[in-house]
Amino acid sequence: MTTIKTTCSLCGDVELKPADLVLELSPSEEEGTYRFTCPECSGLERRPANARVVSVLLATGVSYQIVRTDPITEAEIGNFVAALHTEKDPFRLLTN
Ligand SMILES: [Zn+2]
Repeated sequence: MTTIKTTCSLCGDVELKPADLVLELSPSEEEGTYRFTCPECSGLERRPANARVVSVLLATGVSYQIVRTDPITEAEIGNFVAALHTEKDPFRLLTN
């Protein structure tokens, strides 16, 4: 069974199982964040995960969520709506 060593801001070094962590990934970035509930103090912790940490965590079976760190702006929605009106095949936009 894989154990993942990390640190809790209160307890210091702690060991987790892959099921104790959740990776938060952004669709546009290789880096992400992982969160876990500390087994010692039950506190929710968040840590940045660089690209290497992300791949290691995924390889050990940690589950992940795709999150958008940058909210969609009104301008982006406007561009998309405008494109929908000029695009002959709107579904093609979804494959970008
Ligand atoms: Zn703790």
